[in-house]
Amino acid sequence: MKVNAAVLVASGVERPYADSRPLRVTELELDPPGRGEILVRIGAAGLCHSDLSVINGSRPRPLPMVLGHEAAGEVVEVGPTDDISGAEFAVGDHVVLAFVPACGSCRMCLAGRPALCEPGAVANRAGTLLSGERRWRGGEHHHLGVSAFAEYAVVSSKSAVRVDPSLPLELAALFGCAVLTGAGAAFHSAEVKPGETVAVFGLGGVGLAALLAARAAGASQIVAVDIVQGKLDLAARLGASHALVGGEDVVAAVKDLTHGGADKVIDTTGSEHVLAQAYHATRVGGTTVTVGLPHPDRQLVLPALSLVAEERTLKGSYLGSSVPRRDIPRFVQLYQAGLLPVPELVSGRLRLDQVNEGFDQLASGEAVRQVIVASTS
Ligand SMILES: [Zn+2]
Ligand SMILES: [Zn+2]
Repeated sequence: MKVNAAVLVASGVERPYADSRPLRVTELELDPPGRGEILVRIGAAGLCHSDLSVINGSRPRPLPMVLGHEAAGEVVEVGPTDDISGAEFAVGDHVVLAFVPACGSCRMCLAGRPALCEPGAVANRAGTLLSGERRWRGGEHHHLGVSAFAEYAVVSSKSAVRVDPSLPLELAALFGCAVLTGAGAAFHSAEVKPGETVAVFGLGGVGLAALLAARAAGASQIVAVDIVQGKLDLAARLGASHALVGGEDVVAAVKDLTHGGADKVIDTTGSEHVLAQAYHATRVGGTTVTVGLPHPDRQLVLPALSLVAEERTLKGSYLGSSVPRRDIPRFVQLYQAGLLPVPELVSGRLRLDQVNEGFDQLASGEAVRQVIVASTS
């Protein structure tokens, strides 16, 4: 079938992207879903920093690639299945797409850690679906098994999670990356407990989702740190007890506000320099969690003694260490109960042909979550 999609043709080009237009919105030919795959009409797709990292070249990926990895939509076709229990999805199901397919049978999936699915990682690096195939007939690559900057996408059923159809797709999309990563970082990786103090460095969609989750978990104090005033204002509205402008003095300021350092500190910035600050802003005996993805050449320098002498924990968290099929429905229920006000994270709506302008907004630091919404015409 013919599908309009945003294809990244070159990475590392100059900004503004509104002029250099690294993403070309064009008509592609999409093959039907293969065995264990589904065709999804994309209802909404969020613009995430991990897309920007591919565009600006800090996460090299095979090109050309149809970007977009945070999305929700409706199943419109189900590929053949050889499972005797039948297909996992039916036409009409609403699904959130997760950016790591979970095969369900590798060592990491069996350990309950599908974010680290081994064949999933191989497929994501190669720009294929879990099957190893590409369904864009022109040979374009899939982004993290999703490729949602398109009217339709073929995905592995292992990349999809069924959700309550009453949830608007525009919100559902955010559960695939920002909420899964941010709330997962707070709940699963930092394991925020009632009464603990928390600091969040970096207030994009992921950081603010972490803030919301820390609040839902009963944190007594939440210090939010960013360099953009508008995001600090939003964090304060969403329940941060203090909003601090990032910089060289921020470690001392967090320690002062939390009387020695926050019990749990979550870094979402992707900067090794800020991660080191997050570590130093963590209380002795506390846990520092990072979900950021610095350039692969960067090194983190920390005082080695402090890990033992101060019983510190430094944790990486991919996909919020979540189990998408368990956690996306749970986090949706928390939203429905009023405990995770995800609509607050949506800072703008775009059409597919405005995608380059959207990434200028994201790169400028002004946008929290912009969502490409399918035209209803
Ligand atoms: Zn993302
Ligand atoms: Zn697996």
